[in-house]
Amino acid sequence: MIGSGLAGVLTALELATLKVPCVLVVQEGFHVSSSYYAQGGIAAFLPENTQDSLDSHIEDTLSAGAGHCDAQAVRAILEDASSLVATLNAYGVVWDTHPDGTYAYGQEGSHACRRILHVAGDATGKGIMDALKIALERPDLKPYITLLEGYHLVSLIQPDGKGTPVRGAVLVNPHTKPHAENENMCLYEADATVLATGGYARLWQYATPPACNLGEGIVSAYEAGAEIKDLPFVQFHPTAFAYQGQVKGLISEALRGEGGRLVNAQGEYFMTQYHPLADLAPRDVVSRAIFETCQHTPPAPQCEEDMTSRVSVFLDMTHLSEAFLKQRFPSIYQKCIQAGIDMATTPIPVTPAAHYTMGGVWTDYRTGATSIEGLYAVGEVAYTGLHGANRLASNSLLECGVMARRLAKHLVAQYEPKQTLNLLKAQVFDAFSPACYASWQARAKMRRCEATQQSLSTIQKLLWQYMGVVRTQKGMQTLLEYFEEAHAETALPTHPCHALQSMYDFLILLVRQALMLPQSQGAHTLHTSEEVPVVASRMY
Ligand SMILES: Cc1cc2nc3c(=O)[nH]c(=O)nc-3n(C[C@H](O)[C@H](O)[C@H](O)COP(=O)(O)OP(=O)(O)OC[C@H]3O[C@@H](n4cnc5c(N)ncnc54)[C@H](O)[C@@H]3O)c2cc1C
Repeated sequence: MIGSGLAGVLTALELATLKVPCVLVVQEGFHVSSSYYAQGGIAAFLPENTQDSLDSHIEDTLSAGAGHCDAQAVRAILEDASSLVATLNAYGVVWDTHPDGTYAYGQEGSHACRRILHVAGDATGKGIMDALKIALERPDLKPYITLLEGYHLVSLIQPDGKGTPVRGAVLVNPHTKPHAENENMCLYEADATVLATGGYARLWQYATPPACNLGEGIVSAYEAGAEIKDLPFVQFHPTAFAYQGQVKGLISEALRGEGGRLVNAQGEYFMTQYHPLADLAPRDVVSRAIFETCQHTPPAPQCEEDMTSRVSVFLDMTHLSEAFLKQRFPSIYQKCIQAGIDMATTPIPVTPAAHYTMGGVWTDYRTGATSIEGLYAVGEVAYTGLHGANRLASNSLLECGVMARRLAKHLVAQYEPKQTLNLLKAQVFDAFSPACYASWQARAKMRRCEATQQSLSTIQKLLWQYMGVVRTQKGMQTLLEYFEEAHAETALPTHPCHALQSMYDFLILLVRQALMLPQSQGAHTLHTSEEVPVVASRMY
């Protein structure tokens, strides 16, 4: 199990509940994951919510997905929401409730009614992950889960080459200095290797997930020959916190759910011009509206010199009381205060930023199996067909949890459980040549090498400029040529950025998939003019 967000941890716990041992790779601690960062909550139709129905949740999901969802997957995943909530409750998650004990449902964009369960107001991810972390220590579960901390995935193991069954993974701990050759490296042989490595939104310059969200799991799966779907569909959250020219986390959509309204630099509301649901329109619509607003209205002149410089759009919460805001959004309120903004009196500077990636490794929504034998994917790394061209708010934690439970059940049915953990111990595969070890070690150095970091930073700027909220054919063609050239240049193993080869392969696939889309759909928006708008190259 590679990845320790909700998808990876819950799969491991569910396997342990079924008395099946597994190894859980924790790269940087449980708090470094999108799951931990999640604010708004988890969308779930629960039978006791008389305002809601399964059909209504399905309809909202299909509508936000802009005609690109797999309707069967949508129904199959959403109808498991209630049992997922029961599972999370059993692991100790405590949702916010009203004084009478009923769930305090939140409201988010494009949901027809209040159906979002949340924890500690606006700290749902932390609340869930903290509870699951405690569950990992339970005496009845702990013996089944071996934590492998500090390691990251470098490659999948396919003894018979690309497209053939995956038999494990190569993991490296970049923090330990090996005394002996390859000592910092683990080769795990496994019947089932599960990618739970999250999405790839951090490949964009302005983004909300943690830095590890670089799509490395998808890159490895693509390299292994797995089917990869829908990469161009990248969700830009309309309201990332714009602070001193940078994105400093997220301002949850739940604020708009409680009445927050977007205003331009002149203080004018504008969302009613763009969609009947105004500020609660689907995220792709709101992000495009902000993009257009920024093209037509200059940033607030009074803001040029201070921390809100260049920000053209603000989220206005000032009509709500300080007491309510502090109680409903304690973390976000505090984050704004630390930046010198009291949201009870001052509108919050916001900008769209890459947030969630709908594309990923194709998986069977019933089992989590990919197109390659022995390889599974769960959570944001996977494509299940649920989100279509634009994810409905708070449907992703739901998908992580539902698919984690399904995958665990499938693995138990599919494989003979190993009886002891010893059988899962790291093994050195004598079959691999020194050249293999050398290339894995080179990749492991990828994140620490300055040249690679610089290339990564260039990739992030280019993706932001040419494949951001609004795209043009010409811009994407420019991007494709750049990635193809970079791929060719880095081909030699002696090139300082050789470790990025498979990343460039993935990026070429991403742009090619985008160029093949004939028209705008959901989060993929083609601009009406051929020229890339000037505003596209900066934070809006
Ligand atoms: C700021 C923010 C707020 C959000 N709010 C919500 C919300 O309210 N509701 C909702 O439904 N969704 C929300 N989302 C989306 C949701 O949080 C994610 O889609 C979901 O948590 C993904 O879970 P995951 O387990 O698949 O991946 P993650 O939680 O991203 O975990 C991925 C794990 O893989 C590890 N990893 C990555 N690469 C490697 C590698 N090469 N080797 C080893 N390990 C690796 C990472 O360290 C991490 O542990 C939010 C996202 C963000 C960024």
